[in-house]
Amino acid sequence: MIRKKSSGVRYSNFDYPCHQKQTTKQNVMTKNFLISVFFLIFSFSLFAQTYITNVTVADVAKQKLIPGQTVVINNGLISGIQPSGKITVPANATIVEGKGKYLLPGLTDAHIHFFQNGGLYTRPDAIDLQNIVPYRKEIEYSHENMDEVLRRYLQNGITSVFDVGATYNFLKQRETFKNADHAPDIYMSGPLLTTYEPAIYENLKDDEPFTLIKTPEEGRKMVHQQMAYHTDFIKIWYIVKRDTTSVEAGAMKYLPIVKAIIDEAHKNNLKVAVHATQRVTAQLAVENGCDFLVHCVDDEILSNDFIQLLKKNKTILCPTLIVHDGYTNTYGQKIDMTYHELVRADPFQLGSLLDLKHLADTALAGKYKNRSNSKDAVERAAKANSITKQNLKALSDAGVIIASGTDAGNIGTLHASSYLTELIAMKECGMSNWQIIQASTVNCAKILDKENEVGTVAVGKKANLILLDADPIENIENIARIYRVINKGVVFDPDTLIKDTPAVLAQRQVNAYNFRNIEAFLEPYADDVEIYDYPDKFVYKGKENMRTGYSEMFEKTPNLHCEIKARILQGNIVIDKERVQFRDKVIEAVAIYHIEKGKIQRVYFIK
Ligand SMILES: [Zn+2]
Repeated sequence: MIRKKSSGVRYSNFDYPCHQKQTTKQNVMTKNFLISVFFLIFSFSLFAQTYITNVTVADVAKQKLIPGQTVVINNGLISGIQPSGKITVPANATIVEGKGKYLLPGLTDAHIHFFQNGGLYTRPDAIDLQNIVPYRKEIEYSHENMDEVLRRYLQNGITSVFDVGATYNFLKQRETFKNADHAPDIYMSGPLLTTYEPAIYENLKDDEPFTLIKTPEEGRKMVHQQMAYHTDFIKIWYIVKRDTTSVEAGAMKYLPIVKAIIDEAHKNNLKVAVHATQRVTAQLAVENGCDFLVHCVDDEILSNDFIQLLKKNKTILCPTLIVHDGYTNTYGQKIDMTYHELVRADPFQLGSLLDLKHLADTALAGKYKNRSNSKDAVERAAKANSITKQNLKALSDAGVIIASGTDAGNIGTLHASSYLTELIAMKECGMSNWQIIQASTVNCAKILDKENEVGTVAVGKKANLILLDADPIENIENIARIYRVINKGVVFDPDTLIKDTPAVLAQRQVNAYNFRNIEAFLEPYADDVEIYDYPDKFVYKGKENMRTGYSEMFEKTPNLHCEIKARILQGNIVIDKERVQFRDKVIEAVAIYHIEKGKIQRVYFIK
């Protein structure tokens, strides 16, 4: 329990004298002293350190759990770790009782894209539904929603993200979150430097996520152009289209461009991430200095020589296991969502993934469904998944540095909520829970050589931490049982990071209804919810009664789909016009939800 609320004041803006050049040292010390006096005069509590007491600390580097520790946080940094008996907690300190809890470094998603929203309309080059949602609207949504996406990451314990392919507008926007307590650390590349660009993204100017490179000279020039926007690293999309040439010939054709970009980036102290899912392109990229492979190879079992090369070069590999299935399962209309995803995802993006079920253009929906579910496609995906699995296990066993990442933002891979699904997939490849936790923390710190700043629970490191209710070594899914997130030294209750608006609650239960997940369906309702037939005929009361009725219906109705034809929002009331495919029938109805204290308290149905 937090006995005293964190002051919310951060000191991480202030440089520490030891990090300063000698000439400015004195000025900074004076500045810090004056700031100290200022705060002393106005509030003692602002100076309070945070003590996480009696906690089990996960030493992720040594794969060890150390019980009975007290961790001290001061000025956004971890300033002390000692057995609890040896520490006296000052009277004005903020105490977070850690008994029975597990303290880990904050997690990292090493592969995301802010320019993509995770829903059905986010990649018009993959499925063009711009007659329903123009791509401009998607771009607008991604920018308007960036604050919420960041909160969502933090809510899920993710205190750092790597956007491995952004736009210039996102490079600009992220500057506004630099000092925000609720925002994870954001590492970002500029647009993907690519040898192939989908036509739909051309001429979007600063919203363009790709820059087509035709010559090595252009590649070098673009490195400098991105540096002007403070890119943290360079990303190359090393794509060889299989239908135009052999992989080998295509890879060799583009190699001079890839080499020039890597060379120019390294000359300017920038690391280079490369998208290369084919063994041939991945190997050429690594042989020529690629620092970070952002996917696993899925077309060949890796040779030991190549694995040893990755290890020798300290190339980091991010497997992104779930992203491909996100597309095919959405198109094939066989997508599934866990309880965690149903309650933690952006509900509107998640809901859009089912829109193919009621798309007016049934021919288009049918085409995608048939193609994704064809014997050929299913076999191809199974083969690629099987190769990826074997490769990841071999890489991990050999000691290659693996970094956890989802490729979130792609269709079917939702920001933040998909992270747990990715970790479970890593587990299914045979990685141990400790290996997965290392891949999610300390290994990610190595991508940009930040091991001295983040990635472990250690004195002097940033206080970016998660406090869990249960042991993640026993069960990796416990990593989602987050009691508190500590970001830049500030303690957050994850449930308070995003406000559930009435529309969010209404949408969450529609989604859960469509996925026939009873626990997620009941989650937005008040325990004593009342159901009426409009205008005032009382039908029943209580969540448990609701459970009885809906559980049975969910079990017996595989063919169930509710489409929201229209939604009206008025204060705490949501009015949905629904069209429900129920077994062989179609039912039209209106549902009126009254929300009180953050839960659905009353529902009126007009049938
Ligand atoms: Zn990606």
